[in-house]
Amino acid sequence: MERFISAGSMKRRVLIVDDEMINRELLRAILSQSYEIDFAANGVETMKALTNPDVDYSLILLDLLMPVMDGFEVIKRCQSDEHLRRIPIIVMTSEKSAEVRSIKMGAADFITKSFDLPEVILARCERIIEMSEDKSIIRSTKHDKVSGLYTREFFFAYLKQLLPRIEVPTDALVLNIDRFHLLNELYGREEGDRVLKKVGELITTILCPSDGIACRSESDTFFVFRKHTDDYEAMIEELQKELGEEAPSRNLRLRAGIYNCDTEISDPENWFSRAKVACDRIRGQFGSITELYSHELYERAMFRERLTADIRDAVANRDLAVYYQPKYRIQGERPVLSSAEALIRWIHPELGFISPGEFIPLFEKNGLIRLVDYYVWREAAAQIKRWREEYGVTVPVSVNVSRVDIFYPELENKLLDILKEFSLSPDELMLEITESAYSDNADRLIEIVNSLRQKGFKIEMDDFGSGYSSLNMLASIPIDVLKLDMQFIRNMLLDEKSLKLVELVIDISDYLNIPVIAEGVEEELQFSTLKELGCEIVQGYYFSPPLPADSFDELIEKEIGEKQ
Ligand code: C2E
Ligand code: MG
Ligand code: MG
Repeated sequence: MERFISAGSMKRRVLIVDDEMINRELLRAILSQSYEIDFAANGVETMKALTNPDVDYSLILLDLLMPVMDGFEVIKRCQSDEHLRRIPIIVMTSEKSAEVRSIKMGAADFITKSFDLPEVILARCERIIEMSEDKSIIRSTKHDKVSGLYTREFFFAYLKQLLPRIEVPTDALVLNIDRFHLLNELYGREEGDRVLKKVGELITTILCPSDGIACRSESDTFFVFRKHTDDYEAMIEELQKELGEEAPSRNLRLRAGIYNCDTEISDPENWFSRAKVACDRIRGQFGSITELYSHELYERAMFRERLTADIRDAVANRDLAVYYQPKYRIQGERPVLSSAEALIRWIHPELGFISPGEFIPLFEKNGLIRLVDYYVWREAAAQIKRWREEYGVTVPVSVNVSRVDIFYPELENKLLDILKEFSLSPDELMLEITESAYSDNADRLIEIVNSLRQKGFKIEMDDFGSGYSSLNMLASIPIDVLKLDMQFIRNMLLDEKSLKLVELVIDISDYLNIPVIAEGVEEELQFSTLKELGCEIVQGYYFSPPLPADSFDELIEKEIGEKQ
C-alpha cells in the first residue's frame, strides 16, 4: 500500500544506520517515543531504504564504519542526489578526524560514540530536523493548547510542505460541534474546553491515527487532512458515540463536511472552505452527520451569494413583484372575497423567477429580510389604496412579518408611517407572524404584539401547528386570527387523527372567539369539509393561486358583479 505522507503518522521518520545491533537497539530506545524508526545495517541497505518512493525520512543517523558500503560513501551519494540532499545526516563516530571529514562532506552534525546522554542525542536530532524544515513552520506555534491538535497556522504551513510528497487521493474535512456556544453558556468555559480536548483526542485516534493531520481552526471548528476513504459516516458516528460517553448529559452532536481534494485547486485553504460549505449545510439537521461536498452544493452556495449580492439592486429596480392570494369567507351561501395575502416573487433579470422559499430563509439569516419586507409592506399598502380608489372597496391585505422584523425597535413606527403615507387604517394592513417566532422569545414577542394590537393592527398567527405550539398557547397569546398550517389540510382527508385535530383547533378557536383561516386548500372536498367544521376563511389553489395585482383586479370585479 502506498503511504500517504512520509511521516506516516504525525511523527517524523528517522533512519538509523549501524552495523551493530546493540547500537541500533540503543538508539531505538532513545528515539522511538518521538519518531517512527527504520533500520539499515550497511550502506547498501541504506541507499535501498532512501530510494523507496513510498517512504520519506526526516533524518538519517549514520554510522561511518560499516561493511559493504561505509558511511562516507552514503554521504557522498546523498549529496549528489537532489532529493536526498535535503535529508539531514547526523554521523556517529568516535574519531575526531572522521567528524571533520564528514561535516565537510555535508553531514549536519555528529554524535560521539560511545553514546552521549540520551537527552543529548534526542535534543540533537530534534534540533537538526527542525533546522532542516521550513523556518516559517518552526516559528509558528505548533500546538493548540486546548485541543492538543495543531494550530491552524501550523497546520496549513505543514500541509503545504507535505503536499508535494503526497501521491494518494486525499480528503479535507471540517468538523463542527452543534450549538457549542450553549455548552459554554450552560456549563462554563472549563467544560467547553474539556469537550474540545476530548474531540481533539478522538480526531487523532479515530480520524487520523496515521495518514493524516488535524488542527483546531477556531472555537469549535476542526480541520482534518487525510488519506481518502469512503467510511466517514461510520468514523464520525464512532466519534460521536465516544464523545457521548464522555459527556452523557450534554447531548453533543458533531457534523462533518467532506471535500475530496482536487489537485486542480492549488490552494488547500479552498479545499477547507468547500468542506465547510458541506458542513454548514447539515447544521441543525438531525439525521445526517456527514455531508460530502458536491458541485451542486457549490452551485447552491454560489447562488445564495448571488442573491445576497443582488437584492439591493432588485429593490431599487423593482424586480421584486408582490403577488396577492385571495382569502374567502366560506360560511355564507357563497364564498365571499374577504382579503388577500401579499406574497413576494423575485423576477431576476438573469436568473428568472425565484420563489420566496429560495431567498426568504437566506435573508432571515443575514438580516436582509428587513429590506425585503419593508418593500412588500409599502407595495401592499399602495395596492390597497389603488383598489380603493379604483373600485371603491377596501380589500385588506395581510403581509408577512418575519421574526427578524419583530425585534427591530423601529418596527411599529415604520408600519405607522406606511399607514399614514397611504391613508390606511391599521386593520387594513394585517400582520402575519409565523408560529415558530412565538417560541423564540415569547415574552418579548408578546409585548411587541400587544403594543401593535393597541395601535389597532390585526395579528394573524401563520403556520399554526407546524412548530411547537400547544393548544394551551392559544389562550395566553394575543392574536386575532389563526392560520392553520397547510400540512393539516393536506392530511385532513387522509387520516382520521388529522381531521380530528382540525376539528379540535376550530372548536377551541370558536370558544376563544378567534377566526380560523385554512391555508393550502386545493380540493373541493377539503373545502366542503372545512365549511362543515365551521372554518371561517379559506385560502388556497382551490380558489386561486397568488396573482399579480392586475390579475387580482378581475377577482374584485367579479365580487362586485356578484353583489349587484
Ligand atoms: P406562507 O406565509 O405560509 O404563505 C403561504 C404559501 O403557500 C405561499 O407560498 C403560497 O403560494 C402557498 N400556497 C397557497 N395556496 C396553496 C395551495 O393551495 N397549495 C400549496 N401547495 N401551496 C399554496 P410562497 O408564496 O412560495 O411563500 C412561501 C413562504 O415564504 C410564505 O409562507 C412565507 O412564509 C414566506 N414569504 C412569502 N412572501 C414573504 C414576504 O414578503 N415576507 C416574508 N417575511 N416572508 C414571505
Ligand atoms: Mg403567510
Ligand atoms: Mg402560512
